[in-house]
Amino acid sequence: MALEPRRTKIVATIGPASSAPGVLEQLVETIDGARLNFSHGTREVHAETSAAIRAAQEQVGRPVAVIADLQGPKLRIGELAAPVELVRGEYVTIAGEDGAHPDDLPVAPDVLGSILQPGNDVLIDDGSVRLRVEKVDRGRARCEVLVGGTVSSHKGVNLPGVPLPIPSLTRKDIDDLQFALELGVDYVALSFVRTASDVQALRTLIEAAGSTAHVIAKIEKAEAVAVLDDILREADAVMVARGDLGVEIGAADVPLLQKRIILRALERGKPVITATQMLESMVHAPEPTRAEASDVANAILDGTSALMLSGETAIGDYPVEAVALMNRIAYAVEPSLGYRHEIPEAEEQPTIGQAMSNAACDIAEALAAKALLVPTFTGRTASAVARLRPRRPIIGLTHHKHSFQHMALEWGVTPVHIPQAADVEELWATSLDAARSTGIVEAGDRVVITAGTAVNMPGTTNVIKVDIA
Ligand code: ATP
Ligand code: MG
Ligand code: MG
Repeated sequence: MALEPRRTKIVATIGPASSAPGVLEQLVETIDGARLNFSHGTREVHAETSAAIRAAQEQVGRPVAVIADLQGPKLRIGELAAPVELVRGEYVTIAGEDGAHPDDLPVAPDVLGSILQPGNDVLIDDGSVRLRVEKVDRGRARCEVLVGGTVSSHKGVNLPGVPLPIPSLTRKDIDDLQFALELGVDYVALSFVRTASDVQALRTLIEAAGSTAHVIAKIEKAEAVAVLDDILREADAVMVARGDLGVEIGAADVPLLQKRIILRALERGKPVITATQMLESMVHAPEPTRAEASDVANAILDGTSALMLSGETAIGDYPVEAVALMNRIAYAVEPSLGYRHEIPEAEEQPTIGQAMSNAACDIAEALAAKALLVPTFTGRTASAVARLRPRRPIIGLTHHKHSFQHMALEWGVTPVHIPQAADVEELWATSLDAARSTGIVEAGDRVVITAGTAVNMPGTTNVIKVDIA
């Protein structure tokens, strides 16, 4: 039996729970992307994790995209000796790290004193704890606890509606970026993107470092939603970062925004990752709630390229089970996904590559071909095919190692690394061999292959071939 690949990709955040010996290797058997959150953990551990993922990827013979997630302009709880229990109706004082008294909750960076006003809300850990500022005195803010809970070191702090006097790329982000690029990460995710120029600034730094890493813009601020199209034009991929997005705009608006962001990303043919609390109860339980299973299923039906796990794999008790469950939900839901075969009305004229991709998908559907074989330099042709969400598996073939890694997050695409071909006949032969090696295609199966007659020139896909493997 030929292998039926899962179309929706899975990204797992790596943390203490998933870097335990043996666990990472088990995760890599299923996941397509590994996220290192530079808001947490140490550089030493991130370096070890990255090396372990690379080694495990060699074992499974499939790319796992390593994503460095930069903290961005976000306030966080500082270092606490022990978690603090906040009780509703009681009072707590928050302060910048340097001016904090022993019983205060320290918050970094040290900007609170100058921006908080009585009446402001202070939300901790994606809004699970909620405080209201009563008075501000010499940099320290006395707050009433409106919603209680446990607060531990480095949990996020949001001040909805209060502009933060912090640049989009902080000193820490720039340092972390250099470190991440030296590790050779495949993607860099930028938190709290506000404008397309935030994305540009990051890309300039990546290029200056000689890296081919792609940029993921995390959509988690109202400002970013307002200029979504500009950001999508600039970024290589986007993330529906539902944790901070929900805190910033309110949970009620998140579901429709998720659908809108996914649709916009689909129109542009760029990968989109849906993130946060997808299987949250699995942090402590081996089974998710039915609502969570539905949430994962609905993100798949919305057309998301990838599903992401955060605390479930980083600090949860059941990291392997959470990934396995996501995998099962994807297999259960994907057969009901529809083929988006309309010719897309992007504001720009479709390129020849896009038109060829549309036709290739139509032919593959009409013939019930076993797979679509898409040789690609940069991965863009594979994206153009993936954006139509064809029912046939897509095999993305490239001789560029970085494109091979990037395609790991592309919906429906099984990336394969092939040697560079001298002419189109050789490219077709190599592609057929490589496709059989994936197990998706068997000898005798019908396939559809795209190619450019001028091989070795990116952006020149101009032929579609129907062939037998
Ligand atoms: P973001 O806004 O970037 O999602 P976050 O604080 O919500 O940041 P997640 O990556 O979503 O962080 O992870 C959820 C929780 O898991 C975090 O609040 C943190 O407590 C924990 N966590 C994540 N990664 C690590 C790590 N490397 N080491 C320790 N704890 C981690
Ligand atoms: Mg989060
Ligand atoms: Mg966030």
